[in-house]
Amino acid sequence: MRAWLRIYSLQVPALMLATLLSWPWLTPSPLWAAETASNITAVHSKPLPYDRWYQTDRTYMAALLQEYKGNSRALTKILVREWYQITVALRSALSECYREPVRQYLVYDAPASGKIHVLSLAKYYREKVLSDLLVGIYPTREYPDRWRSNPAGIPSFVSNGFSPAAQPPDFGVDDVVAVVNDFDLPPGALRGLSFYILPFNLTGYAGSSHTRLLPGREESIYLSAGINKESPPLAVTIAHELGHYIHYQYIGSYEQDPVKWRSFMNLIGQDDFQVSSSRFEDNTEEHFAEYFRMVYGSAAARGGSRFRTSAPNPLYRPDLFNCFKRMVEGLVSQSGPSYYDVNNMWISGVDYRGQRFSFPVGVRTEQINTVVTTSPYLDFSSSVILNPEDPFNPLVACFRFDPKAVLVDYSTPRVDRGYIGCRITLPRPGIYTLFVGETDGSRNILTPMSFKIIYIGNL
Ligand SMILES: [Zn+2]
Repeated sequence: MRAWLRIYSLQVPALMLATLLSWPWLTPSPLWAAETASNITAVHSKPLPYDRWYQTDRTYMAALLQEYKGNSRALTKILVREWYQITVALRSALSECYREPVRQYLVYDAPASGKIHVLSLAKYYREKVLSDLLVGIYPTREYPDRWRSNPAGIPSFVSNGFSPAAQPPDFGVDDVVAVVNDFDLPPGALRGLSFYILPFNLTGYAGSSHTRLLPGREESIYLSAGINKESPPLAVTIAHELGHYIHYQYIGSYEQDPVKWRSFMNLIGQDDFQVSSSRFEDNTEEHFAEYFRMVYGSAAARGGSRFRTSAPNPLYRPDLFNCFKRMVEGLVSQSGPSYYDVNNMWISGVDYRGQRFSFPVGVRTEQINTVVTTSPYLDFSSSVILNPEDPFNPLVACFRFDPKAVLVDYSTPRVDRGYIGCRITLPRPGIYTLFVGETDGSRNILTPMSFKIIYIGNL
């Protein structure tokens, strides 16, 4: 075991970026009752709609922590059992999406998104409590507030959080699919992109898109429940957010690819890349998203709202219109680098009952990005999207931070028929971080994704 691996590119790409299409909403309205179709059965014996399940779980957890004060071992056992029940329910909710057969993007309806949000928060809370117990602290932390921004659940933009919707969204999966399939893009351009129709609103925003700027397709777009009822309409929001997806996936950050960004900036006559702190009207990424909306959007997507940047509107400039279209076609037609298929990565092991488990893992906060284990052995596996011209050297490394990074295990698995797999052995109970990335033979772990592992030890 060599203790020299360095998690190199964490400084930039691991930073989660959020870009949002902002539009003032009307004032928040009372919460609508969730549909019974969104029932959750995990932990609490009676099936409950996701919002009532959240309240029940929150109340239950407060009582449980009181009841088991001074009995950490018994509490740990209960929480591990519940963590597995919740994670199985989350795995099932994450699979409840429409997979577009040709373009291979995913759409979650509002009940599925609601379930995913509260299950992810309940799972995260148990992970925090278990982590406290593991280091000998009796937990006093608060249950996560579902309306606020949290390190788990559906991501919100900075501190704005979420607000209740006056009524269920009046658009569904079919409406999203109809809008998305209207875009004249190559069939593979949107592969792996996830859309979430939310049962609540992103406070102050119609939609948001997230990326970690990884080579894989880990982007997602979140749509407020109130779209259509209040301006802007669905087509406008989707067109704008798809523009963000295109630059996230096919260009990356300005630092990652200044040449490609420069060609867009030359087109709009902008000298300096304007970052997200700048005004919406001047922000380079917003310029790109609005250009995409104008050039690729339907009449509804173009017309629902004014062009919101200080750049010249391509609708009135055929030269700019055609130039942007050629640029996007060029970006999308280039094959990306080889990388993990981020929609097909798994961590498996043996659970507290001695039964085998396998969870799909993902880097987004609403996905399963932390695994609790009572066994020291975990297996990581993933399918890989290969670019034949591009070497791919996977590296999977496990660290403990106490507080300095200590490498405890690593593996450089070979790609076999489009798959990689490796075993990670944990030396003793504790909290670990699993980095999954690439190696160029140097000390650096390149383009890493990270997953947390909480190894409880024998119950
Ligand atoms: Zn935007």
